[in-house]
Amino acid sequence: MNKPRILFWHRKDLRIFDNQSLIKAFSLSNAITSTYIFDKNYPHDFNANSRAWFLGNSLQELGNNWKKMGSRLIMEEGDPVLIIPQLAKKIDAKFVFWNKSIEPYEINRDLKIKKNLEEQNIQVIETWDHLLIEPLKIFSGNNKPYSVYGPFYKNLKSKMNLLGPYDQDKVVFQFKDIDNKLKENKTINSSDSVLEKFIKNIKFPGSNICPCKPGENAAETILENFINEKKIYSYDSARDFPSHNGTSFLSASLRFGTISIRKIWNATLNLNSDCANRVNYLSIETWQKELVWREFYQHCLFHFPELEKGPYRKKWDHFPWQNNNEWFQHWSNGETGVPIVDAAMRQLNSTGWMHNRCRMIVASFLVKDLICNWQMGEKKFMETLVDGDLAANNGGWQWSASSGMDPKPLRIFNPYTQAKKFDPICEYIKYWIPELSKVSNSELLNGEISNLEKNNYSSPIVNHNIQQRLFKSLYAEI
Ligand code: FAD
Repeated sequence: MNKPRILFWHRKDLRIFDNQSLIKAFSLSNAITSTYIFDKNYPHDFNANSRAWFLGNSLQELGNNWKKMGSRLIMEEGDPVLIIPQLAKKIDAKFVFWNKSIEPYEINRDLKIKKNLEEQNIQVIETWDHLLIEPLKIFSGNNKPYSVYGPFYKNLKSKMNLLGPYDQDKVVFQFKDIDNKLKENKTINSSDSVLEKFIKNIKFPGSNICPCKPGENAAETILENFINEKKIYSYDSARDFPSHNGTSFLSASLRFGTISIRKIWNATLNLNSDCANRVNYLSIETWQKELVWREFYQHCLFHFPELEKGPYRKKWDHFPWQNNNEWFQHWSNGETGVPIVDAAMRQLNSTGWMHNRCRMIVASFLVKDLICNWQMGEKKFMETLVDGDLAANNGGWQWSASSGMDPKPLRIFNPYTQAKKFDPICEYIKYWIPELSKVSNSELLNGEISNLEKNNYSSPIVNHNIQQRLFKSLYAEI
């Protein structure tokens, strides 16, 4: 008997290995054809040049991998609500498989597609893949979704220590391509040109210096460099210093699913098991905690979809933002006259990536010094970051604005104190603002740069102490 034909839809899982839905599909039949749709109604995958670059290159590699394994990746652009049912019919699929999303737009879209397919007697099988644990399998003591990170981490960690052995790398896939007559089909054949056109339109000059690298192979190499070469052991001491390259640079790989979160977590467990050194053990744990921040924000968005639209703490709806557009532009371009802020924004604009410590500094500066609504910064990040992810970005901005899940009410970063602590010899500042290379570190760190104009660098657009007082008085009103 012929095995049923399956359409497999790649979304935020641009990989073949340890792809939970694909493993399930393969256990049913090897007659699998895959697809990726450039969804015109869902801008978050490619509305930043950096992400378009990451996506285009990852798809190119993924398409080649499908060919090597005997099948193909069909690429189309438009509305998946129309395209997926048409395509499933065209290839005579009996099943459509995909991995579930936590994002409100995707959940609604998928519901429509599922309904349409089921009306045509095509069965839909959805699986969780992007997370360590399904959102409906972890709740607080009173059976509610978590809204505080600490207890979420504790509960999740206890479950993760029991994770079964990871052996997905040993799975050998061999797929069966579509019938010869279908190969003549115009849409199916035009697939490569859809990707070619997409890649031709990408304008991302930072591709050579972006620390995140597209594709499944590159993600493996990055993980190896970080874990197997033991860079993870110095994570705890190096991660906060933006000039130290002390973090993994896996964020875009996780965002697009070119690597699985289970594989990463498992690698940390393997290290843990032969780790006698307490300093190393703590460093591994610090990194695990960051992976769980990612998980936490994904779960929060799933349970509280309203986060996408505004503040979690409703009193922030009434905050009298000043939203000075000129200041916002200065912030956006890295021209505020505050060196650590400008260095960070220039890193973002040039490479599509920014160090986590600096994300917190620039976010605090925009919200608490420039008194601009955090959603302006959230949007700028989504338009620029290679790892721009709705849940993580929204979570990071709400944390910085003090409007989110974090229970501590008001956190204001002094950018000069931050620079003294985390860029004490101004390596990062001087790298990204070369015009300041001859200015003394103490002038830079104390914000007393007397020869600014001589160095072709602007004076600070605001005074931190004055703005901080103003912000606090406005906050008192809400
Ligand atoms: P590592 O330090 O090596 O951490 C490992 C992984 O853990 C990361 O790849 C990421 O997947 C996850 N992670 C680490 N820290 C966080 C965190 N605070 N929140 C959520 N996940 C985390 N991260 C994104 O992936 N996409 C975003 O759009 C994003 N926007 C942010 C916006 C703001 C205002 C802030 C403060 C943080 C944001 N972050 C975002 C979180 C964090 O800055 C990045 O994940 C991290 O800098 C990526 O570098 P890395 O891969 O070297 O991280």
